[in-house]
Amino acid sequence: MGKSSNEYQKMADDLISSFRSLKDKNVRVFIIPKWMFWWATAFVFGRFIFINKNFEKMDKVSQVALLAHELCHVEDSIKRGFLQELFMLLYEGLSWGFDTKLSRRVERAVDLRTIKKGYGKELLHLELAREKKFSKKKLEKIHSRGYLSSQEIKSLMGKKK
Ligand SMILES: [Zn+2]
Repeated sequence: MGKSSNEYQKMADDLISSFRSLKDKNVRVFIIPKWMFWWATAFVFGRFIFINKNFEKMDKVSQVALLAHELCHVEDSIKRGFLQELFMLLYEGLSWGFDTKLSRRVERAVDLRTIKKGYGKELLHLELAREKKFSKKKLEKIHSRGYLSSQEIKSLMGKKK
């Protein structure tokens, strides 16, 4: 299943104080080889978070933002239970690239919750790094999958105050 990561496990454990429903759930973080899911940086199955080299290359603040985002997925995943989660994984895997509706709904909700949990600043940092790194076309694709743009994050954080 890949090696377990002490550093990122600790990071996730610290974040879990903001995730009441996960306190006794023994959430685990694993580093897995990039070839296993080269298109992603992190993904969740049940209470397991899998990250790869893409994740390790990110700066600390971005890592915190992404882990908080993934922990929101873990909350959903645990609520769904094993069978439904397996179905979701298969469906998402098979429909990757042409059905963005599901991902749009899921990722948007998760990003919104990441902000609600108090990680808006970190999420903004992550998104700004992403917007600096990728072409306009690639960003459009990312945002069409539901991830909030820096503009949206800023306005959402503004509303909260
Ligand atoms: Zn996500």
